[in-house]
Amino acid sequence: MAQKCTVCSHESIKEINKALINGVAIRKISEQFGLTPSSIHRHRVSHLPETLVKAKEAKEVCESGELWTEMVSLKTTCIEILDKAKEMGEFQAAVSAIGQAIKIVVVMLKVQGELKKDQHVNISLLPEFLEFKEICFDVLSDYPDAKAALIDKLKNTQ
Ligand SMILES: [Zn+2]
Repeated sequence: MAQKCTVCSHESIKEINKALINGVAIRKISEQFGLTPSSIHRHRVSHLPETLVKAKEAKEVCESGELWTEMVSLKTTCIEILDKAKEMGEFQAAVSAIGQAIKIVVVMLKVQGELKKDQHVNISLLPEFLEFKEICFDVLSDYPDAKAALIDKLKNTQ
């Protein structure tokens, strides 16, 4: 059964998303809204990008450059998850964190209007993405299976 997101169903979801976009510390948000830091982490990685696409303020956020900051911060979160997953030997989780990060990059670029709806852009050529890919490969360098899974995932993204 899919786990329900306690953040998405929270009555102050809009404020929480705004706080996340503005870079308020997760610990602070969790205290303020009575949510666990892990649920906020999960929400930020899995749900916030889609929320942003739908948000009316998306254009504003975009223009102010906050979206880019948010993207970088989400990417950082994914890398943190990746490191943790590596520590714990959870490579399925690592690969899935990478998948999320790729999704985030694509969504953010869509919001920024850099990817037109039907236009096929090879995100693997973007500097931001290349840098991120290097980090991923580095983290997974000792684990050929996970690396192979990542390469496979990347193929599907392009
Ligand atoms: Zn959520």
